Amino acid sequence: KNMSEAGWNFDNSYIRLPKTFFVSQRPNPVTSPKLKVLNKPLAKSLGLNVQALERADGAAVFAGNEIPDGSSPLAQAYAGHQFGNFTMLGDGRAILLGEQITPSGERFDIQLKGAGKTPFSRGGDGRAALGPMLREYIISEAMHALGIPTTRSLAVVTTGEEIIRETKLPGAILTRVAASHLRVGTFEYAAQWGKEDELQKLADYAINRHFPDIETAEDKYLLLLYRVIERQAELISKWQLVGFIHGVMNTDNMAISGETIDYGPCAFMDTYDPATVFSSIDVQGRYAYGNQPGIGQWNLARFAETLLPLLHDEQDEAIKLAQEALSDYADKFDNHMQAGFKKKLGLFGEEEQDEAFIKELLGLMEKHKADFTNTFRALALEKLDANASLFSSAAFQGWYKKWQERLDRQQKTKADAQELMKKSNPAVIPRNHRVEEALEAAVEQDDYGVMERLLKALANPYAYSLEQEEYAAPPKPSSYPYRTYCGT
Ligand code: AMP
Ligand code: MG
Ligand code: MG
Repeated sequence: KNMSEAGWNFDNSYIRLPKTFFVSQRPNPVTSPKLKVLNKPLAKSLGLNVQALERADGAAVFAGNEIPDGSSPLAQAYAGHQFGNFTMLGDGRAILLGEQITPSGERFDIQLKGAGKTPFSRGGDGRAALGPMLREYIISEAMHALGIPTTRSLAVVTTGEEIIRETKLPGAILTRVAASHLRVGTFEYAAQWGKEDELQKLADYAINRHFPDIETAEDKYLLLLYRVIERQAELISKWQLVGFIHGVMNTDNMAISGETIDYGPCAFMDTYDPATVFSSIDVQGRYAYGNQPGIGQWNLARFAETLLPLLHDEQDEAIKLAQEALSDYADKFDNHMQAGFKKKLGLFGEEEQDEAFIKELLGLMEKHKADFTNTFRALALEKLDANASLFSSAAFQGWYKKWQERLDRQQKTKADAQELMKKSNPAVIPRNHRVEEALEAAVEQDDYGVMERLLKALANPYAYSLEQEEYAAPPKPSSYPYRTYCGT
């Protein structure tokens, strides 16, 4: 069979790392693979041939039933802090096929999620259910369209097999595309079980793959730490600015590349409340919206600890360097947040009271249970619904007056400000009730039309068109809080 017809062009640099870091493992074939979703624009950008992928032998690759030429499938070893507790993990249901080298020379991991058991499966079945894989597809593609670094979703196939959870569910496999699957947890694994030269090889690998410009620097491992901190500060600020709640920010779910990874119990916040949690297992609210920045810092401290032996021969000195790097995080994060909220409000330049001014609005939004996305959207469009509790309050009107005066004081015109706001405030986010509706039609009725329409709206989140309107509406008030689940 001529697999290269599909355009697969694999290299396998991960397999050149020490054996500690992976186990060679083929996907476990499935009974009856059917291609349900294919991301055609992404396929093309990867140099893949859409028609060939849509054929049965093309889809067989997404199911793990056929291994394309040049792929050396493996499961990655890693560890991680899960809800604060250190654990040995590894790919329990994911297989890395290899790295696709694109026509423009870029390198992307191609991973099958739900492809069967591996030596890291522990008690798990190595499989994934259709609903959660479609959910990852929808939300990761929405994140990409919002301009937030993320792993991508190339395809979803059903397996023709049922998997057992609380009930029987249709099995599926998601093909995930990532800058890499290196995690903070990969470094924790190396620091715990690897020899020191193996940790160094991992660090060199990460630098080569993500930060090649620091490769020849004398203090490259310290620079690696600074870079990862910078990327996470920026990433998490971007989450905060659209109301994205990751839901399971364990260190094994924090990518060295700075991409959002592992769409489990994640969800977007409707009503603004920093205490918002969707994950059914996050009873303490450890990963609540308002805690994400601090958890980012905590995870980065775990990362810094793994690098200590590479930072300095003397541990005291190494710790000092690491602490200095970590102390940068909060400032970097705050700067990104400040800049981001200013864009959301159309503010150019800098005024001393800007920070307090932004805080004031957020405080009012919280008090009046305002919809996060639609409040900024309404400000951008100057369409304040007089009936909304927030907009009709005296406190908001006082804030609004100050905002108008601030806009008037700046050099840029009102039109410039509005332009900036429209670019910085999405009209549509993947609202939970719309995502659920799409999943239900797909999983229960094999109707993918609802999901397709949703994906279309999400592909242009800043469009402000009439078709977007339907997807902009928040859910009807409900007495049951929305809950998400991981591990399916
Ligand atoms: P997560 O909570 O998604 O970050 O997953 C944590 C760990 O559980 C990872 O090592 C996964 O590979 C593993 N895991 C999750 N679901 C399964 C499953 N169905 N079978 C085997 N391993 C799994
Ligand atoms: Mg994970
Ligand atoms: Mg997961």
